[in-house]
Amino acid sequence: MGVLQDTVPDVTGPVVGVPRALLFHEYEAFLNAFFRALRVPVVTSPPTSTGILDAGTKLCNDECCLPVKVFFGHVASLAGKCESILVPRVVSVARREYTCPKLLGLPDMVREQVRAAGQKIIDVTVDMYRSRTDLVRAAAEVAQQVGRQPAQAVWALVRAMKAGATSRLWVDAGMLPDHAGLAVGLLGHSYLVHDSCLNLRLDAHLKKAGVTQVITEDAMDPRAMDRQAATLPKPLFWTYEKATVGGALLLLKHRRMDGIIQLASFGCGPDSMVSSIIEWHCRKARTPYMLLTLDEHTGEAGLRTRVEAFVDMLEWRKR
Ligand code: SF4
Repeated sequence: MGVLQDTVPDVTGPVVGVPRALLFHEYEAFLNAFFRALRVPVVTSPPTSTGILDAGTKLCNDECCLPVKVFFGHVASLAGKCESILVPRVVSVARREYTCPKLLGLPDMVREQVRAAGQKIIDVTVDMYRSRTDLVRAAAEVAQQVGRQPAQAVWALVRAMKAGATSRLWVDAGMLPDHAGLAVGLLGHSYLVHDSCLNLRLDAHLKKAGVTQVITEDAMDPRAMDRQAATLPKPLFWTYEKATVGGALLLLKHRRMDGIIQLASFGCGPDSMVSSIIEWHCRKARTPYMLLTLDEHTGEAGLRTRVEAFVDMLEWRKR
């Protein structure tokens, strides 16, 4: 069997659009490797801008959370650039766990918008609630929708899983050096933490305020986070929120952080639930905690003021 070279894409066929929003931030390396191995041309929407945010806010229902609104904006930005758009229905990505209801209904929510732009949706259901092997079926379905054979999908899936696994360069929280400066744990959905337009350049504000080290969930060992989440009296069945709580407990256990910040989205049910759990554990561990809830009306000046006040308090405690 020939080996596909990452550096020789040799892509053919209709272009697939991938919105740079929601779970893209979690699986970017996986998706890139999957489509490259299938030799399918892909266009990714640009990083979120205020234009994309405004477009999404206008197109989407008011009741939705900020990340879903932004997803609509990214889909709109792909109009005229591709023949089809990947909008998976992600029901479950781990055994006996679920994602959020908004992710389950995503293809139904954007279908009309995509159709009006003369494009089609690659609507594939990913449901690993009972078994992880469902991913093989989902990969074969995507391959078929982009004109490839199921056998190619298996090969592409292997490549993608390898790329996804190596994209996480985690550290053992227990091995983090005692930090002379200020260290903060930054927790929350990847699509809030890694989208600097949605989080209003939080990273820059933290640095400017004097924080010298920021640890996010994707820099932590997922198995160690899982073990910590398993210590809760009642198991959480939302995969990504479970990781957030597990990350918080791991950081609190090793006592390497001066404070913990959680990013949440206004109108997000799972976020409101886990923020109470994290706050309770931070209080118990006497570690400062701040919840930053974002929506399309959140202003940068207000966020900066809250960050500065929080960091001032951390410095005072450290002294
Ligand atoms: S988990 Fe929360 S923020 Fe994410 S899509 Fe669901 S409601 Fe929105």
